[in-house]
Amino acid sequence: MIAYDQHLHTHCSHDSKESFDAICLAARARGLSGVAITDHADLFGVDPEETRDRIARSVREATEAGERYPDLSVSRGVEIGDYFASRDGGRSVLSLADYDLVIGSVHCLSFGKLNDAYSRCDFGETWSDGEIEGLFAHYLSLLLTMAETNDFDVLAHLTCPLRYLIGKYRRKVDLSRRRDAIAAILSAVIRRGAALEINTSGLSDGEPGGMMMPDEPILSLYRDLGGKRITFGSDAHTAARVGIGFREAEERVAPLGFTHYTVYRKREPIDLPF
Ligand SMILES: [Zn+2]
Ligand SMILES: [Zn+2]
Repeated sequence: MIAYDQHLHTHCSHDSKESFDAICLAARARGLSGVAITDHADLFGVDPEETRDRIARSVREATEAGERYPDLSVSRGVEIGDYFASRDGGRSVLSLADYDLVIGSVHCLSFGKLNDAYSRCDFGETWSDGEIEGLFAHYLSLLLTMAETNDFDVLAHLTCPLRYLIGKYRRKVDLSRRRDAIAAILSAVIRRGAALEINTSGLSDGEPGGMMMPDEPILSLYRDLGGKRITFGSDAHTAARVGIGFREAEERVAPLGFTHYTVYRKREPIDLPF
């Protein structure tokens, strides 16, 4: 059983109102052994001072929650979004605390008509098929730069824009054209000894077959390239979604040849068997 949820948000993220107590109680009720609080430190188009304040508070509250729930491991993490926007901003967030893990992700893109989070964009008819392909290629290029040059432990939700492009707007994205770009990102993750996150936010506990990020073909490619290290994260912004889809994710991932998953303490990986 996957006993650690390594990607969670609280009221210290701009897009969540959830309390640390609710997250910890939900994790305990689900039988989890540990959670990692990874509130957002986005570096694109945000006030860096406010971000620093929120993350300092998140780390403080995670430490306090760990003391209130001694039977639960509460890790102090951060999700740094959009390193490309501010290398100094990234360093500043990293210097704030003695983190257990640092997640790296890309949430915002400056491409064509978009200069914002891709989750907030309307990818309807005003976007041509070519622009959609270009946008996804651009997303991958930013992730490759991050994987090669920035400081992180876990690469988060690879393929996340597809959740909107395909899942919400029913656009076509030809992943066969991106195989080399994806392989380059995976190879960079492996070279630096980082982990690839399996993000379960697109899964549910009831209906199987939701969108796992990344999905099986990419995870198989990661294995073929020598990738071993994976983490599981629900990316929950509410207590009700803590550990969501973990059972399905384990059933889908174990047959691909993964035998362990990774948790982080003081930014050191610890590999645990399923
Ligand atoms: Zn994210
Ligand atoms: Zn997140």
